Amino acid sequence: NDLKNKNFKICVIKGDGIGVEVVNETLRMLKAYEKILKSVNFEFIEAKAGLTEFFNNKDAIPNETIETAKKCDAILFGAITSPKPTEIGEELNKLYKSPILTLRKELDLYSNVRPTIDYNSNIDFVIVRENTEGLYIKEEYYDEENEFAIAKRKISKKGSERIVRFAFDYAISNNRKKVSCIHKSNVLRVTDGLFLKTFEKIAKDEKYRNIIHNDYLVDATAMYIIKSPEMFDVMVTTNLFGDILSDEASALGGGLGLAPSANIGDNYALFEPVHGSAPDIAGQGIANPMATMLCCAMMLDYLKIDSKPIKNAVKRAFLEGNTTADLGGSLNTKEVTDKIIEYLTLE
Ligand code: ATP
Ligand code: MG
Repeated sequence: NDLKNKNFKICVIKGDGIGVEVVNETLRMLKAYEKILKSVNFEFIEAKAGLTEFFNNKDAIPNETIETAKKCDAILFGAITSPKPTEIGEELNKLYKSPILTLRKELDLYSNVRPTIDYNSNIDFVIVRENTEGLYIKEEYYDEENEFAIAKRKISKKGSERIVRFAFDYAISNNRKKVSCIHKSNVLRVTDGLFLKTFEKIAKDEKYRNIIHNDYLVDATAMYIIKSPEMFDVMVTTNLFGDILSDEASALGGGLGLAPSANIGDNYALFEPVHGSAPDIAGQGIANPMATMLCCAMMLDYLKIDSKPIKNAVKRAFLEGNTTADLGGSLNTKEVTDKIIEYLTLE
């Protein structure tokens, strides 16, 4: 096939704390999978970002890292520790830039994709969140005289079009059947009105004729996610609603140890676990690598390489109780990885 002997460059940003541990083990798993696949080759190019880097060089995300990321086919990101402003002092605080926010902006990663997976109940849906506009444009002001505060919420036609198209294309390439638009257009008639209208226009595109589409109000959605999560397949929504709903959804899933995410734009894509650097358990070798392995599977989906064997191996390890302590198991990071590698097989 056309993947024969294809070489993929993966930019690897391990970051801080358990980010380093779970990424190292995920790379070991990916190398083992590469051997099974035979026809593809992964080249890992490491780049620095995070708090360790910040303390070493006063730059949490060096330009070189952004340049490396731009030269690669995909980025695998571990986790970074954000410094507490009170701990590093004013001087350093002024120099600090959030690596993940910087990468999202520099690479225009406008879609945030968060699957919710629960192997016990077969819950399996994906939230696609718009990541560049909405209430996150940070245009707020306080009117001293009249004592009120206003936050602006930007919904653009172009921004809505690209996220909605992304959601439909994602549905097609990931064998999903339905895309639901989540909004509040009964109250926010202009902004969410535009978002919903754009959704309805794009849903009619001939390309998407095999995908079912519908829409729900965000408040009803918050309830349905708990009551009947099986109603959902792919959801597409604006920035703040996506932020809130995906945290709600993560409570339904198998927990932080199993939650992957992706940040995708038209030219670049970054894959990171939802969890952070977990300083409390860092350095002990007991972090759960499964979330990062599921990120790796999403990365392969993006690169159009079969990811099923990885997803199946993670699922099997989970169902057999071969997990770390956070999921009730008694294995360490390396032992979980060994099991997953053992379970990797092509169908
Ligand atoms: P950060 O400051 O980088 O966000 P955090 O302390 O908030 O780190 P999170 O990673 O967000 O930590 O997760 C909260 C807690 O959940 C951690 O302190 C840790 O105990 C647990 N946890 C998170 N991820 C994992 C994992 N992969 N394996 C095991 N436990 C985890
Ligand atoms: Mg955290």
